[in-house]
Amino acid sequence: MLDAWLDLVHGSRCVGCATPGRLLCRRCAAALPSVPVPTRPTPCPEGLAPCWAAGEYAGLLRTLVLCHKERRAFALARPLGSVLAAVVGGMLPAETDPAPGQVPLAGQAARAAPLLLLVPVPSRPGVVRERGQDPMLRITRCAAAQLRLGGRQVRVARLVRQRLRMGDQAGLTHAQRAANLLDSLEVAPAPLRATARLGRTVVTVVCDDVLTTGATARETQRALEDVGLPVVAIGCIAATRRRSAAPGPSTLPFSTWAD
Ligand SMILES: [Zn+2]
Repeated sequence: MLDAWLDLVHGSRCVGCATPGRLLCRRCAAALPSVPVPTRPTPCPEGLAPCWAAGEYAGLLRTLVLCHKERRAFALARPLGSVLAAVVGGMLPAETDPAPGQVPLAGQAARAAPLLLLVPVPSRPGVVRERGQDPMLRITRCAAAQLRLGGRQVRVARLVRQRLRMGDQAGLTHAQRAANLLDSLEVAPAPLRATARLGRTVVTVVCDDVLTTGATARETQRALEDVGLPVVAIGCIAATRRRSAAPGPSTLPFSTWAD
């Protein structure tokens, strides 16, 4: 009924299979990957925390990310959030089993199970203004809601922001991206104070939609670690497969990823 109504009123179709109705039909939603796979960019920025993604940046995952980000299909934040929640929930041990790297904030001892702190990589303010939304923040909030339903204690903290005006990362080479990003992010004092006031032990995870060179994730990690928040992992929706002329051995088990 819902699909018929959506088709009639909005003429909407599933972005995966073009079935008239909701933006993502049940069948395509059920086909989304839900098992985190460890991944690593090649070459990998030095010191990058362990990275996990749900699959390769291709097929339905790529379509969802692009439609949400570029075509403002906000309804897709929920399924994308579910994918991210599956990655984060699957890559970290349960809260009763403290992960390495957790730190008590504000010098206080932990009063409860560690709090999972999800930090989305920041979008450029210009991009947020232009698109009328911060895609990664929206997806991360949806992921947090999913994780809470599963019993995890989660908080989304928009801790990291742009320090300088930067050019768009798209279309840049690996070296250009790295140079463009160096020391470009910083932790905003107000959300850091708000997080510290919680007085909780936190396990910090950086969340990104697509892991390409790892430069943005690494810079976000550096900004957090500069204020004493070690990053235990990078959780991504998808990872690109590098198509260089001389590819090195990949750690990505692509064969397990269905497009
Ligand atoms: Zn479909």
